[in-house]
Amino acid sequence: MTSRIFAPPGTQDGLPEEIRMKRYVESVFMDQCRCFGYGEVHTPVFEYGELFERGVGPVTDIVEKELYTFTDKQGESLALRPEGTTGIARAVIQHEMYKVLPQKLCYKITCYRQEDPEKGRLREFHQIGAECYGSPNPQADAEVITLAYTALRAMGIGNLSLNINSLGCDGCRLGYINTLTRYLLPYANSGELCPTCVSRMSRNPLRVMDCKNPSCKAIAKNAPKLIDFLCSDCRSHFETVKRHLKAVGIGFNVKEHLIRGLDYYDRTVFEFKAGEGGATGTVCGGGRYDGLVKRMGGPHVPVVGFAIGEERAIISMRESGIEEIPAEPPLVYVAAMDPAAAGRGAARLRGLGLYAERDLMGLDLNSQRTAAKSSGASWLVTVSENEICLKNLKTGAELLLPADGWDETARIIND
Ligand SMILES: [Zn+2]
Ligand SMILES: [Zn+2]
Repeated sequence: MTSRIFAPPGTQDGLPEEIRMKRYVESVFMDQCRCFGYGEVHTPVFEYGELFERGVGPVTDIVEKELYTFTDKQGESLALRPEGTTGIARAVIQHEMYKVLPQKLCYKITCYRQEDPEKGRLREFHQIGAECYGSPNPQADAEVITLAYTALRAMGIGNLSLNINSLGCDGCRLGYINTLTRYLLPYANSGELCPTCVSRMSRNPLRVMDCKNPSCKAIAKNAPKLIDFLCSDCRSHFETVKRHLKAVGIGFNVKEHLIRGLDYYDRTVFEFKAGEGGATGTVCGGGRYDGLVKRMGGPHVPVVGFAIGEERAIISMRESGIEEIPAEPPLVYVAAMDPAAAGRGAARLRGLGLYAERDLMGLDLNSQRTAAKSSGASWLVTVSENEICLKNLKTGAELLLPADGWDETARIIND
């Protein structure tokens, strides 16, 4: 059995230091969501498998290569969620939340993808994100981008760069896809495109623009640009998004080849990169997916949203100089000759809502006092049969209280 005492590849244990970072990231994000009026939603870790094909798109790495699927004892085909948007869209349809719009929703979730751990990719990872349902207006795009930006900045991530692009609507994309297909065809025939791209060309040639294969990348670089094919509505939507971003002081680069890894974006797509020149990689990605709800079986409801990778955000925080979130020291340390008395005292103070520490290792009274100091506690309470001795470890001031004076002790500590 000893050979199995390892977590599976692509998974990570969250030890306390790491979880403090994670909780910090999540609480900063949720604080911002509260300021922007986004309400948290929970959806299941697994859904019916075909849901993700409709939500994420069949011609994507996520669905083609990375989905964890399984059949349960009832023979149902299920899949672990690879991202957060699809489950929320399903919930919005199921609970008819689209009847009251806009709906501003946020989440923090665990996701699963069969990525390559050899490339340092995680198979179990965490995302926080937000979705704005109901508004087709560019103000909603700008607000969602602003929320992501504000949250990432509040986490202490410096060196953020925002890339944006517009993928247009079905109408303007049609003309583009024809032109793009004509451009790609010779490369497909000559074998310069990778086999995945060749197989995707007839189903969604846009995916080629997103391929990581170096040869495909070079071909994509010189391909016609979607942005030159935008219809006038899509063009003015994009211009207004940019104007609103400028109005709130968020700088951006228009990146004409930005596609993002899902099939179904409409109009706005964006990503935040961290590090000098974006070197640390993408910390947040999002965009508008106005066709999503309808494609999943609901009415037409426009949506714009984003997701932030928590692990990626933590790497970026560390690169920005935030190495760790220090553990909170105890407020009070309860020492006593008699371990039962220490236990009773700590229980009383904890019951009053204070973070109280005590010895569990069988230390004598002197060693307990030393432990109190090294724990960083602000107060030392020494319990004896007849009294409580309360010492302020910052000032050295001492005070004696009767043996049952726990409420008074807590009151003084709280002051
Ligand atoms: Zn259009
Ligand atoms: Zn390719």
